Amino acid sequence: MRLPILQRLASGEVLIADGATGTMLQAAGLPTGTPGEAWVLERPEEIMKLHRAYVEAGSQLILTSTFGGTRARLKHVLSLALSEANGANEGKAGLDVQVSEINTRAAELARRVAGDDLYVGGDIGPTGEMMAPIGSLTYQAAVELFAEQAQALAAGGADCIYIETMSDLNEAKAAIEGARQACDLPVFCTFSFDTHGRTSMGVSPAQAAEAMAELGVPAIGANCGHAPEELLDLLPQMRQAAPDAYLIAKPNAGIPHMVKRQVVYDATPQRMAELALRYVELGASIVGACCGSSPAHIAAIREAVIRDA
Ligand SMILES: [Zn+2]
Repeated sequence: MRLPILQRLASGEVLIADGATGTMLQAAGLPTGTPGEAWVLERPEEIMKLHRAYVEAGSQLILTSTFGGTRARLKHVLSLALSEANGANEGKAGLDVQVSEINTRAAELARRVAGDDLYVGGDIGPTGEMMAPIGSLTYQAAVELFAEQAQALAAGGADCIYIETMSDLNEAKAAIEGARQACDLPVFCTFSFDTHGRTSMGVSPAQAAEAMAELGVPAIGANCGHAPEELLDLLPQMRQAAPDAYLIAKPNAGIPHMVKRQVVYDATPQRMAELALRYVELGASIVGACCGSSPAHIAAIREAVIRDA
């Protein structure tokens, strides 16, 4: 039986997270442009198969397939049945009508694979909308969107709320506040530093870490982003600004680039394993991988980190 995740991290042991969800589900046949949430209710066996592949590769923390699971994003997604039906999509209901079912079910699927011993992170990504005053999403409305998702993830058995790929500090704050309103689970938050060492909204690693420390977020870090090598610079900046936080490193498997109209990531499992060891040396407590990675990358990371421990 697992310890509460913060107690486990406090023991000093490094936890191995999982790898990509989106690119792996696409490889399993999810149409490009359709988010993984569309498969949670309709193809749950595919979602569980992916979780199982990561657990077999050595993941100790798996993330729910709910990156785009806020009402704001789900309203743009049709059920598979509707999107496969002929005719205009106009007027058809989006998956936002099932926001609670999808998030709760996704957490239940992950929990079923994780069992009693492994951890489930209830994954929350950005709303996809710009926050006011640049966009029209108010802080309060964002808090409510995130609270709704977090509550459903907690109901399905998540061990923590795992907010990721954030670029706007205000949106990250809204997500943390929403998650805390909705449940008592620990809330983690990672940012995507994909633009010259900053997020697309211009937030530096130190600014992000400082803001997270002020809010008392216990685990923070970098995910997705640009080249995985950049974390070697980013993590120390976060460590300095938030000395007490557990650090999370979950980068892409290489810089995405186009080959024959396909997005390709070419960091090998071996390369990602070498880098993971260096993240751990820099103080990372949770290591995994993001876009373009597969269970083979996670198996290599696990091998390297556990051998070194
Ligand atoms: Zn990614």
